Amino acid sequence: MSRLDGFISRMQSQREILNHVQENSMIAPDGVILEIGLGNGRTYDHIRERFPTNRIIVFDRAVGSHPASTPPEEDLILGDIKDTIQQFAGKNIALAHADIGTAYPEKDARTLTWLPQSVAAALALGGIAVSGLPLDNPELEPLPLPAGVEPGRYYFYRKR
Ligand code: SAM
Repeated sequence: MSRLDGFISRMQSQREILNHVQENSMIAPDGVILEIGLGNGRTYDHIRERFPTNRIIVFDRAVGSHPASTPPEEDLILGDIKDTIQQFAGKNIALAHADIGTAYPEKDARTLTWLPQSVAAALALGGIAVSGLPLDNPELEPLPLPAGVEPGRYYFYRKR
């Protein structure tokens, strides 16, 4: 599979899982969502379209998003997510989506020293995590993937 094919499969998996969460009403209409890694803002735009009543708090080092999908200032948290996400521990977050994998194993290994436990700490019991990197944590129970999502492309959990 070419890198282009792999990228498309990963993006389709991301969208399928986020749509599945919305279509199955897996989070409350007033639950807070964390979008971990704004990037260009394409996924942020999709999440706000799918979850119009939920507040979406967005993280990145700096704003690099298209103006059409840049979050309002009060919902943007800039800096190293390793540090900035810590303030959400115990905040009963409904859904956390993290797209901060790089495909560089050594960089992703560093991210995985803090991301799984930080997401688990932020989520409410029953809260949902959707991630491009595997979140191995005893509090995060892997959920069955929606039809059409290839295992290993994207990851889906509920906090127990
Ligand atoms: N889903 C996004 C979109 O639709 O455009 C793409 C996200 S992009 C793959 C990942 C983003 O996460 C980058 O903008 C990068 O700056 C940010 N990021 C990755 N690790 C980070 C960290 N530790 N702290 C802050 N930002 C980080």
